[in-house]
Amino acid sequence: MKRVYNFSAGPSMLPLDVLEEAQRDLLNYDNSGMSITEMSHRTKTFDKVIVEAESLLRELMGIPEDYYVLFVQGGASQQFAAVPLNLCGKNNKADYIVSGNFANKAYQEGQIVGIDAHVAASSKADVYKYIPTDLNVREDAAFLHITSNNTIFGTRYTEFPNVNIPLVADMSSDILSREIDVTKFGVIYAGAQKNIAPAGLTIVIAKKSLVDDSENVVKGTPTMLRWDTQAKNGSLYNTPPCFPIYMALLVFRRIKALGGVKAMEIINERKAKKLYDFLDNSKLFKATANKKDRSIMNVCFVTGSDELDAKFVKEAGENGFCSLKGHRLVGGMRASIYNAMPEEGVDKLIEFMAKFEKENA
Ligand SMILES: *Cc1c(COP(=O)(O)O)cnc(C)c1O
Repeated sequence: MKRVYNFSAGPSMLPLDVLEEAQRDLLNYDNSGMSITEMSHRTKTFDKVIVEAESLLRELMGIPEDYYVLFVQGGASQQFAAVPLNLCGKNNKADYIVSGNFANKAYQEGQIVGIDAHVAASSKADVYKYIPTDLNVREDAAFLHITSNNTIFGTRYTEFPNVNIPLVADMSSDILSREIDVTKFGVIYAGAQKNIAPAGLTIVIAKKSLVDDSENVVKGTPTMLRWDTQAKNGSLYNTPPCFPIYMALLVFRRIKALGGVKAMEIINERKAKKLYDFLDNSKLFKATANKKDRSIMNVCFVTGSDELDAKFVKEAGENGFCSLKGHRLVGGMRASIYNAMPEEGVDKLIEFMAKFEKENA
C-alpha cells in the first residue's frame, strides 16, 4: 500500500494508526456486530463514544466545567452565522478582526444576519500578510471575533487580544496544535477536518453563562442554530455526525498517548521551524507571511515565477508530495503541516525542495 505525504489544507491527512483502527472496527464495533456508522445515536455503545470524546477534549484543552462542549454540524461557516445569532440578542453590536478570508466571511455573515458588524482591524489591504494589532474595539460590543490561524495566508496569533468583551475565536486550523488558555475566550469553534477528524463535525466550546442566558439569542434564530438546543441535549438533540465524532475520539486518545497538546506543540514548532529555516536560506523559494506572524500549521511560499511554481507543484505531486498548490486567492504553494503530518514528511519535503532548487537555479 502506498501512502503519499498529503499537505492538503483541509480535509487533510489523518494519523495512519487512527485510520487502521477505524478500518479494523468498521464491520464490528465494540462487539456490536455492526459499524459505528450503522448504529442509533441513542445506543449505549454510541453514548460511550460521545461521552469519552467530550471528556478527553476537556482534558486535552483544559476546558473548565463552566464551559459547554458541543458537537454540531454545518462547518465553521455555519458558526459564522450562529455566533452573532447566539450572542447578539440583547446587544446588536459585534466587532471583528479581519485577518484573512475566513475572518472576512465571518464579518460578512454578521452583516447578513442583521447585526451591527464592525471591523475592529483589518490587514485586507496588504493581502492579509500579517495579523493586525492596531485595534479599534467598541467597548460595548457583544463580542470580538478573531481567527486564531489564517489557513489561506499562513499567519497566526501568537498573543491573543486582551479585551473586556467576550473573545470569540475560529480555531478551525489550529485547534489542538498548541496550548491555549480556554478561559481567555467566551467561545471557541472549529471545523474538525483540519486537525481532528473527517469533515462533518464542528466543535463549539462556549462559556455556560453566555449560552444559558436565553436573552442572548436573537429572536427568530432557528432551533438548530441555537447553542442551547445542543447544550440541553448533550449534543444529541438530533442525529449527530456519529462517524466523525468516533474518529475524533480516536484522534484525542492518540494525542493523549503522545503526551498531550504540549507535546504536539513542540513537534509542530520543530516541523515549522525546519521548513521556514529552509525557506529563509533558499535562493529560489521565499516564505510570504510576515515573519512574526508565521503559522506553524500552514506554510505559504513562492518562487517568484508562476511557471516555476506550477512546475514545482507538478513535480512534487509526481514524487508523492501532494496538494501543495496554494489557495486560489494567493497562488504559489502552501504546505499544511497539521498534527497528523509526521516530521519525516517535512524532512522529505525539504530534501525534495533542495533538489528542485539545484535543478532549477
Ligand atoms: C477551513 C476553515 C473554515 C471553513 O470551514 P468549513 O468547515 O468548511 O465551514 C473556516 N475558518 C477557518 C479558519 C478554516 O480554516
